[in-house]
Amino acid sequence: MELVSTISDLNNVLSPIRSQAKAIGFVPTMGALHQGHLSLVKQSLQENDICVVSIFVNPTQFNNQEDLIKYPRDLDRDVKLLETVSDNLIIFAPTVADIYPEPDTRQFDFGPIDKVMEGEHRPGHFNGVAQVVSRLFDVVKPDRAYFGEKDFQQLAVIRAMVKQLGLDVQIVAMPIIRENSGLAMSSRNERLTKQQREVAINISKVLFESRSWMSTISVDTLVKKVIDTLNGYSELKVEYYQVVDGYTLQSIQSWDESEYIVGCIAIFCGDVRLIDNVVYKQKD
Ligand code: AMP
Repeated sequence: MELVSTISDLNNVLSPIRSQAKAIGFVPTMGALHQGHLSLVKQSLQENDICVVSIFVNPTQFNNQEDLIKYPRDLDRDVKLLETVSDNLIIFAPTVADIYPEPDTRQFDFGPIDKVMEGEHRPGHFNGVAQVVSRLFDVVKPDRAYFGEKDFQQLAVIRAMVKQLGLDVQIVAMPIIRENSGLAMSSRNERLTKQQREVAINISKVLFESRSWMSTISVDTLVKKVIDTLNGYSELKVEYYQVVDGYTLQSIQSWDESEYIVGCIAIFCGDVRLIDNVVYKQKD
């Protein structure tokens, strides 16, 4: 296990690994790690000779300054948790100045996929994600990089970015890890009170239940029913619920419009913004 905080230290650790042509797996995170992150790390360790885990709360992807300030940070705890997984890890925890020695003025455009849902409700978010992930890819030069399907749209944006920039990295998608209650694990869950956590369980519960509604009701009716049901709980307020084509991320109107259909939600529980998604029709 190595903990490095500068790009030059990271290069010093990685250069002997690179010269032996060993496979480097990479898991970018913003810390406050949980089992969802660890599932990515474990998969990366299985498929590569070494795994780099970055821990960096990227300011350019926050459209809300309060969210950035309140984002949980505890590097010591994260390191201890990663130690329980493996010794074969490099933890890269850089400073903002290291990642952005100059302000990053790049403007990305991934077409329709980054304009909807998170793109619409969090202006500039995906541009910041593309900035930091492209920068981290450039520094780490991984063979494979691991992303969770919890951030469903982010995964599509990363794939589009890799294609657009012609990067030589394989993107691996990993399933959502949930608490026993069904609540999708998230660093933001730490900010929920005990009561809010109990209410938040209804998010996945309603999403899962809605899968049994699709045989009898239209997409529009299902969307409305999901939103109304969740808004019926005190503390919950749906920001958006959209049923989309899993490839294009565009809303669909009928269940036979695509072979891959996913429902994506952003919802406030108190002042904590959570996201989740459910698959209605699976890709092949
Ligand atoms: P974050 O630290 O929130 O930026 O997340 C880092 C990576 O972990 C992203 O690829 C996320 O999609 C993934 N991730 C976060 N939560 C989960 C989860 N509950 N299950 C699977 N992957 C997750």
